[in-house]
Amino acid sequence: TETKLRQVQKMEAVGQLTGGIAHDFNNMLAVVLGGLELAKRNVSTDPATATRYIDNATEGANRAAALTRRLLAFSRAEALLPEAIDAGALIAGMTELLDRTIGDAITVETRTGDTDWRIWADRHQLENALLNLAVNARDAMEGRGTLTIAVDGATLAAEEIGRCAAGDYVRIAVSDTGCGMTPDVLERVFEPFFTTKPVGKGTGLGLSQIFGFLRQSDGEIAIASTPGEGTTVTVYLPRHVGEAVAAADRETGEPAALP
Ligand code: ADP
Repeated sequence: TETKLRQVQKMEAVGQLTGGIAHDFNNMLAVVLGGLELAKRNVSTDPATATRYIDNATEGANRAAALTRRLLAFSRAEALLPEAIDAGALIAGMTELLDRTIGDAITVETRTGDTDWRIWADRHQLENALLNLAVNARDAMEGRGTLTIAVDGATLAAEEIGRCAAGDYVRIAVSDTGCGMTPDVLERVFEPFFTTKPVGKGTGLGLSQIFGFLRQSDGEIAIASTPGEGTTVTVYLPRHVGEAVAAADRETGEPAALP
């Protein structure tokens, strides 16, 4: 739990870092644009001065290029290491961490039941995604409310998932009683760097990263939100049946029947 907590703090620190980088990048662009503008004004009357301004602009552009190279190296997607996971057990195992991350005034409820909701996913990335959703919920509730994480099964129709056949999924719904989102915010939440949070607090990378993770894991994500009432983010991961052996069948080695 200690390491996980530190991980949350690290994620928030990474947020501040990214915000700072965007700010620096804007400053460098200002140097480039300003230099080009001044060069244009001087180009016919004073070519030597114009050349100096162009050199300034080139230097600014080179610095910006170096910065984006660093940013790309830093954010390079980690390879996924999927394994069979019981989603209910994973969430049950996160409750203490969630309680401590979310704070005392917000109630955290988990509804996992006792079904083995087995999925095939990268444990570390899934935990990070859920923490991220919980932190978003916390921010939306401004100190008071209820965060609910519920796990169950769902079948998505072929057209919903853009496949030839319907799919069996494990559904993890993260709901909050926070401020909700207006339709124009909701429309943009998966854009990298889109944030409505103050500089240094939000990075706008949380939901876009989760989107990328789910895409790589053959999952889906849906968001329902009502301003003033709250938000539910629903994550779908393909149900994994291959290694599912229910407790009662462990002795016989018979595959478990799906509930
Ligand atoms: P960040 O949290 O750094 O802003 P995200 O990509 O996680 O980045 O979220 C983008 C934006 O989506 C947030 O700034 C916020 O406006 C909105 N948002 C995300 N989750 C919620 C939520 N649970 N309730 C209300 N708004 C949310």
